[in-house]
Amino acid sequence: MHGAEYRSWDPYRSKLAGAILKGEIPPDVIREGDKVLYLGASTGTTVSHVSDIVGAGGLVVGVELSARVGREFLEKVAKARHNVVPYISDAREVERFGEFGAVDVVYCDIAQRDQTEIAISNAKRHLRRGGRLLLIVKARSIDQLKEPSVVFREEAQKLRDAGFRVERVVDLRPYDKDHALISATMG
Ligand code: SAM
Repeated sequence: MHGAEYRSWDPYRSKLAGAILKGEIPPDVIREGDKVLYLGASTGTTVSHVSDIVGAGGLVVGVELSARVGREFLEKVAKARHNVVPYISDAREVERFGEFGAVDVVYCDIAQRDQTEIAISNAKRHLRRGGRLLLIVKARSIDQLKEPSVVFREEAQKLRDAGFRVERVVDLRPYDKDHALISATMG
C-alpha cells in the first residue's frame, strides 16, 4: 500500500507470530477493531504488534507485574500508542481490568505455575460470549520434569473442565522450546 509502514514481526521473539507462521493459528485470530486483554506485557514487544493489528478502533489493555520491565513498556509502547492502556499489576487482580467492558480476546503469557488458572479467571470475568482465549503455556514453569507435551495436554484439559472449547494446541518449536499456544473459545 502506498505510504504504508511495514514492521517485521520476529517469531523467535513473539510467540503469537510463531504460532501464525506455523500455519496453525489463522493470521486474523486478532482483528482490526478488537479489544484485547493482554496479560504479561513484558516490555511490550508483542503488545506493539497487537496494537498495530487492532488499529485505532481497537484497544489493548496490557498488564505487567514487574515494575522494571513495565517501565520500558510504559515509556516505549504505551505512551506512544493511543490504543494501549497499561496496568502495572498482578494479573491475579482480575477485578482491576474491567473498566473497558467485555473483550474479544484474552491473551495470557505470564510464565507462572498457575498461568492457566489465572487465564481462566480473567477470561471468565472479561471475555465476551464467543470470544477467544490465547494461552501461552510454558511447560517448565508448571513442571520441570514432565514431558512438555504432557503438560500441554493437562493444561488444555483444565480449560475444557472450566467450560472452554479447545481449538488448537500449537507446539511452538522451532521458535520456542517447551512452549505451546492454546487457543480456546468460550460458549
Ligand atoms: N508476552 C511478552 C511478549 O511476547 O512480548 C513476553 C512475556 S514474558 C514471557 C512473561 C511476562 O509476564 C514477564 O514480563 C513477567 O514479569 C510477567 N508476569 C509474570 N507473572 C505475572 C502476573 N502474575 N501478572 C502480570 N504479569 C506477570
